[in-house]
Amino acid sequence: MKESAFDLAEHNADSSQNIAAQDVDQDSIDFGYRTVQRSEKAGLVRGVFNSVAGRYDLMNDLMSGGVHRLWKAAMIDWMAPQPHQTLIDLAGGTGDISMRFLSNGGGIACITDINHAMLQVGRGRRDLERMAGQISWCVANAETLPFDSQIADFVTIAFGLRNITDRQAALSEAYRILKPGGRFLCLEFSHVQNRPLARLYHGWSFKVLPVMGQVIAGDADSYRYLAESIRTFPTKEVLADMFAQAGFAHIRVRSLSAGIACIHSGWKLD
Ligand code: SAM
Repeated sequence: MKESAFDLAEHNADSSQNIAAQDVDQDSIDFGYRTVQRSEKAGLVRGVFNSVAGRYDLMNDLMSGGVHRLWKAAMIDWMAPQPHQTLIDLAGGTGDISMRFLSNGGGIACITDINHAMLQVGRGRRDLERMAGQISWCVANAETLPFDSQIADFVTIAFGLRNITDRQAALSEAYRILKPGGRFLCLEFSHVQNRPLARLYHGWSFKVLPVMGQVIAGDADSYRYLAESIRTFPTKEVLADMFAQAGFAHIRVRSLSAGIACIHSGWKLD
């Protein structure tokens, strides 16, 4: 039975345990530059975020020089949340998007993620304490959400879609749980068009990030995966097509920092 995302209750069922069993087809998929069985990817991604969870927020600040904060602020700005509005944040990790949604006027937020360790780190965040009454936490796979249809004003996903095995299924689920008139926004890394900048960015991603990952989080491989998964992620045009395929209308795309990241926005009309 589906549950309300906003009952502010604990969700203890760890649906991540069921992922391998659900993906029974033998098709292959990217895991960074590796090609793996579709049934393997969720477990590999889980390994990445189990490994880095404790240092995830610190690494975000260090590796982006704090710029991820500006990108997230840009998404919230575009949303312009109101006190009567509800958000379900997919792949919400440690809760950054919900924290910003609520501190910028949003009403209630449900932070969902497949990874229990990431949510646990979020629950320990001091800056979320004063908003605790407006937040619920839920372990959930974005591909098969445990919620009723048409319950949220906003659905968001930030730097999560890249990691998901069946991305089209996640977009369809976002569409399903939105109320008519609701809006879905995806903040994700994209592809730099400017050649010299792209070369610099490539060098930073593949030479510097894994070293930082090793020194700060004790894990070079997870940050190598990050760099690779950015390169293999669809272009902004392809992602916009995927939005349309899921049913979204009025699709708009904003490029950030010369295309390093992009925000895609789409509306559910009815
Ligand atoms: N949204 C947060 C942020 O912007 O800081 C966290 C982003 S983090 C890079 C990616 C998150 O996606 C991880 O917490 C990971 O556990 C989650 N994730 C990966 N696959 C998922 C899936 N199938 N369903 C839900 N969450 C998933």
